[in-house]
Amino acid sequence: SLLPSYDAETIRRLDKAHVFHSWSAQGQITPLPIARAEGSHFWDADGNRYLDFSSQLVNVNIGHQHPKVVAAIQEQAGRLATLAPGFGNDVRAEAARLIAEVAPGDLNKVFFTNGGAEANENAVRMARLHTGRHKVLAAYRSYHGATAGAIALTGDPRRWASEPGMPGVVRYWGPYLYRSAFHATTEAEECERALSHLRDLIAVEGPGTIAAIILETVVGTNGILVPPEGYLQGVRALCDEFGIVMIADEVMAGFARCGEWFAVDRWGVVPDLITFAKGVNSGYVPLGGVIISEEIAATFADRPFPGGLTYSGHPLACASAVASINAMRDEKIVENARRLGEDVIGPELRALAERHPSIGEVRGLGAFWALELVRDRETREPLVPYNASGADAVPMAELAGACKVAGLWPFTHFNRTHVVPPCTISDDEVREGIAILDLALEKADAHYTG
Ligand code: PLP
Repeated sequence: SLLPSYDAETIRRLDKAHVFHSWSAQGQITPLPIARAEGSHFWDADGNRYLDFSSQLVNVNIGHQHPKVVAAIQEQAGRLATLAPGFGNDVRAEAARLIAEVAPGDLNKVFFTNGGAEANENAVRMARLHTGRHKVLAAYRSYHGATAGAIALTGDPRRWASEPGMPGVVRYWGPYLYRSAFHATTEAEECERALSHLRDLIAVEGPGTIAAIILETVVGTNGILVPPEGYLQGVRALCDEFGIVMIADEVMAGFARCGEWFAVDRWGVVPDLITFAKGVNSGYVPLGGVIISEEIAATFADRPFPGGLTYSGHPLACASAVASINAMRDEKIVENARRLGEDVIGPELRALAERHPSIGEVRGLGAFWALELVRDRETREPLVPYNASGADAVPMAELAGACKVAGLWPFTHFNRTHVVPPCTISDDEVREGIAILDLALEKADAHYTG
């Protein structure tokens, strides 16, 4: 083989010496060495198996090592491993065609990037040039990526260390009934008040200064916040009224995660721009992009688009997207995610909530679920404070630790654990993972004071 196959100790040693990791104090982490993965599982270099309830970073929608996606990458590597973005190519054209085909409305053109952050950067650039305006309204409780502009759009604490960020970002509250910024008590009230807050914000900021409203169709890492019926339609109507570009960030929510090709489909809403990454090819090769409406594409018909990337439309990435979208169609993976949410994950998690007082709320859809953990169901005091670290974060670390020891890899963020397995997971695997969560949640219940 041309490639190394190190034991766990060697991986740990070399990693420690040479790999600089994301979001971490380098001296305080010891990454788990991983040897292989298949379907809904991965194995560490010591041979321990984990059920992947996080789909890595909520991107392995098609499962690990899907044979057709792996074969497509291998075949393309043998044919043409790289190509500058200015050329046309069969897999690049076919990936764009397939993405446009599954996208709603007249979103027919694709600008390819390497990931989600670059997709949002370029969507904002398009919106600003299309409208001739500069402000962008972005939600608190959002994540849009870690490059300069995308982190400025981000509403969560990952933004703080990068401030002051890109000028022109104005933040709004989105709907979140469980912790309503509007003191609402019903979904309908939350929806109406969130939209009226957004309308007020547009008025005081000046509609003629606002290029775009960006939102995660279903907020991902910041809580799996499923918008109430009417909210996205309301945002669409405000954008139409004031000539504002609607950008749906579907980096995490798209490509089967929500039981739809795109989460907006569930509400029949057509944004002007959709940004995607993750599930488009399950991250087998880095890929993201912007899907562009005919109207916005026309802005750049006779005027150059001032943006580009060496790897835009990379052949290996595009080949993997072609194989992945075709496999999703053939194997009905979108439908499977919807069924999993309705028939398996949703009901099982609701049953869990009856046994564990620390579960304050269960919410989600498709293969995209959150358990919001609290110390008291009445006061809704979170199990750990917002942005908890150190001793404050211990209860969640105990929960995650108990899952891992039992062979389940969870996704935790603040006071929530998300259930976000591959969209191809079997019903039995879901039940196996939830049985482990059931035991691990005793760690959370131990901190319950209500
Ligand atoms: N947008 C959303 C909704 C995300 O969840 C993420 C990543 O988690 C991003 C954007 C950034 O994507 P990337 O990490 O590929 O730059």
